[in-house]
Amino acid sequence: MTDNLDPKSQRRSAEHDVKAAFDRAAERLGLDEGVRRMLVEPWRELRVSLPVRMDDGHIEVFIGYRVQHNAARGPYKGGIRYHQHADEDETRALASLMTWKTALMDVPFGGSKGGVSVDPHALSNEELNRLTRRYTLSIQHLLGPHRDIPAPDLGTSAQTMAWIMDAYGQANGYTPAVVTGKPVEVGGSLGREAATGRGAMFVLQDACRDLGIVLRHCRIVLQGFGNVGSWFAQVAHEEGAHIVAVADHKGGVYNSGGLDIPALREHERVTGSVAGFTGGESISNHDIFEVESDILVPAAIENVITEENVGRIKTHLVLEAANHPTTPEADSVLVERGISVLPDILVNGGGVTVSYFEWTQNLQQFHWTEEQVNTELRTRMAHAYKAVSDKARSTGLKYRDAAFEIGVERVARAAEMRGFV
Ligand code: NAD
Repeated sequence: MTDNLDPKSQRRSAEHDVKAAFDRAAERLGLDEGVRRMLVEPWRELRVSLPVRMDDGHIEVFIGYRVQHNAARGPYKGGIRYHQHADEDETRALASLMTWKTALMDVPFGGSKGGVSVDPHALSNEELNRLTRRYTLSIQHLLGPHRDIPAPDLGTSAQTMAWIMDAYGQANGYTPAVVTGKPVEVGGSLGREAATGRGAMFVLQDACRDLGIVLRHCRIVLQGFGNVGSWFAQVAHEEGAHIVAVADHKGGVYNSGGLDIPALREHERVTGSVAGFTGGESISNHDIFEVESDILVPAAIENVITEENVGRIKTHLVLEAANHPTTPEADSVLVERGISVLPDILVNGGGVTVSYFEWTQNLQQFHWTEEQVNTELRTRMAHAYKAVSDKARSTGLKYRDAAFEIGVERVARAAEMRGFV
């Protein structure tokens, strides 16, 4: 049976939580009340109804969203999520996180996000194709290479992006730069698929150096083995770290000596889950946060480290590869317990960074080698990490607050210079 850690019943407002982090940054920066309101409110929101004919002939109606939060620093940029709990509140919160993330990573984009309330595992490939085309046509007037550029997120993939590019192209002509995270065959960038996980690993390497942690001696526990989690695991494994436990939405696996990550990836590719992998003991995905580790990496969904389980977490460092995995209350407890938390807008910023490389390659119609992509990604992740760690050190702020302050300040300055109001 599928375990379900996704606490729909205890749903909290992700939008409220992200706004609280924004408010702290705005307060420290001394932003004027009007500027604060301007930066908090999304600029545009669209809710669409998506009728789709299912394989058995009946019509199903899904609800989709696109929220454009802020474009002071460039066109809106943000992933599209297919998840049964996607809604306005979550999409708004994730759109604003994108605004602060693109600013922190210093890529020339604003922030947006899209979502469709659907369990993608319950649809056939053809049904997903029809749903994606319907969604794209319903929001396409908001999209464009200099307007708003989607990318993959939870429950979507390079294939989804190829369908979006094709549907948008049918209405507007061939426009690969309208979407990033595409397959390489249709204009995607080498290195994009691995970029979020690889970028998270780069941040971890820099933090370990500063905190005196030897990565090769570390036990890592990982929640989520999709695009971000599986690539993070692969790169960490290549660097000699031991991933001792991994869980996904169907279950988990534990091996105190370290899991064989290439074999686990192959098992997941064939079966669709890490559950049932014979290279370790089976554990429930509820128990993943109780496994002792040096580094804990949430790389699945939001609100998984909560007041309820934070007391049982035994780790030294939390690397937030997922968006908003830690509630503010749990975040405070982690900090009180001396557990460092490297925040989402820094850790998973590698995805949007290589999306930027893909967009520029599409606009220039010029391809980079994978080595160029990874080298440039390394430089940019190091730059962002240094900005955050320098600010944290010089101000005494926790990493999350330092990261938000940098992002919010850059967006506020751009808005001010453009003379919006
Ligand atoms: P994905 O759909 O490829 O994989 C999600 C993984 O999480 C799967 O292994 C799934 O089984 C697992 N999962 C889902 N629900 C779970 C649950 N209740 N308990 C345990 N595991 C569960 O998604 P992804 O693209 O890897 O995204 C993961 C996270 O990273 C999300 O928070 C997303 O917003 C964030 N993110 C992704 C990218 C990107 O480039 N894909 C970029 C930045 C941030």
